[in-house]
Amino acid sequence: MNTNSSNIMALAPNTSNKRETVCIFGTGDFGRALGHKMIQSGYPVVYGSRSTQISNLIPKDAEVLSHAEAAQKAAIIIIAIQRQHYNFLTPLAEILRGKVVVDISNNLKLNQYPESNAEYLAQLLPGAKVVKAFNTVSAWALQSGALDASRQVFVCGDDVEAKQMVMNIVRALGLTPLDQGSLLAAQGIENYPLQLFPMWKFPIFLSLGLTAFFFFYCLALDVIYTYVYEKNNFSFFIAITIPNRICPVMALILLALVYLPGVLAAIIQLYRGTKYRRFPDWLDKWMLCRKQLGLIALAFASLHAVFTLVSPMRAFVRWRTGKGIISQALNNKTEPLDTTNAWLSDSYLALGILGFFFFVLVGITSLPSVSNSVNWREFRFVQSKLGYLTLILCTAHTLVYGGKWFLSPSAYRWYLPNIYMLSLVVPCTVLVVKFVLVFPCVDKPLTQIRQGWERNPKYSE
Ligand code: NAP
Repeated sequence: MNTNSSNIMALAPNTSNKRETVCIFGTGDFGRALGHKMIQSGYPVVYGSRSTQISNLIPKDAEVLSHAEAAQKAAIIIIAIQRQHYNFLTPLAEILRGKVVVDISNNLKLNQYPESNAEYLAQLLPGAKVVKAFNTVSAWALQSGALDASRQVFVCGDDVEAKQMVMNIVRALGLTPLDQGSLLAAQGIENYPLQLFPMWKFPIFLSLGLTAFFFFYCLALDVIYTYVYEKNNFSFFIAITIPNRICPVMALILLALVYLPGVLAAIIQLYRGTKYRRFPDWLDKWMLCRKQLGLIALAFASLHAVFTLVSPMRAFVRWRTGKGIISQALNNKTEPLDTTNAWLSDSYLALGILGFFFFVLVGITSLPSVSNSVNWREFRFVQSKLGYLTLILCTAHTLVYGGKWFLSPSAYRWYLPNIYMLSLVVPCTVLVVKFVLVFPCVDKPLTQIRQGWERNPKYSE
């Protein structure tokens, strides 16, 4: 019965101009911003406050009364007050009985209290229908209208009808309600605004760590080594040369790390002979942040493209080119065109351009606005097939770039390989294992496992 009536309400929101009065407890930043927005949307607003004196900051069409008086004037009461002051509500429990009480509060820390603020409010007011909403919208965004990033309002509550009433208000304010279920969801909703890029932490720390490692590695081999053994001061390499070595290396390694967990998952499933056992936690977490790893990889690849394009403008490059021309002129000898070298350099550039093109394509498809407009198969095609093509092209770009130096002793300063050689370890491993996995004798059982077949079924008929 409840569900039906609430569905009807959701399908047919109040279209009459007369809206129900809403009561807001608290005339602080959020209470005032929400009140302004509600009055603009046609809701009469009455404030419940400790002081009934009207201040200039309070919307002028709103009434300010004591808490008890204000609560009696409305069926919905929004509590725009910090949780630590909620105990003032206990004497109002009778007045609030049967009313919809909206908890909008946030905490300062994740899981600050054993129960969510909304559940705590429901304990204080056992007769009220508590709904959690609005905590993900900031007072500033409400007031300035800058709601693009926070148009979604998570709503949860045990009373379906009360939740629908709040969701109708949310819609009337031009926001999008997202029903998160019962009040049990409140803790998650309260933690949501406190999270700081949860999916980005691992990719960012990994990128920073690897970048720092490669920076010192290049500094040692390209600047310190040349200074010690060749008496050349190449410290200016820090500005462009070293970053332009690190960026492609990072892009390639991070791109390979996007595809490595999928390959590991396939090996684990083949080994276990089932898909019904959970992957280790670290692998689950790694899989969840593949998009972020890919986007950081794309950022490094874009930087590499920009650094490469500015190369001809560099004083060092112009000096080196001029030196080559002058030495040919002094020796009165034009060096013949080395077609093998020309082939290698053109191929490596072409592979890089194509790799970057597909990299951008895969990156764009991972954006929600684009991924929402393709179906699941199309999304998988771009992310998996075109993603692997990107990895192949970028790995080939690096292999062709450095291929001729792999066996040259001069490439190993202090017996250490150049960083582009290090960058090839992970992508080559991923590509070789993937190559093995697509062999029919491996691919067939893997596909069967992924379709639900088990080598040793636990529950045999
Ligand atoms: P605020 O500016 O500090 O205002 C809180 C209001 O609570 C005060 O203006 C006061 O209103 C009332 N109050 C303070 N102490 C009280 C007490 N001992 N007993 C009864 N009432 C008391 O805080 P706010 O920024 O508006 O935030 C209010 C709630 O909204 C918080 O739970 C916060 O987590 C949540 N929230 C805020 C934002 C935001 O952007 N600010 C965003 C989302 C959620 P009166 O003087 O009228 O009594």
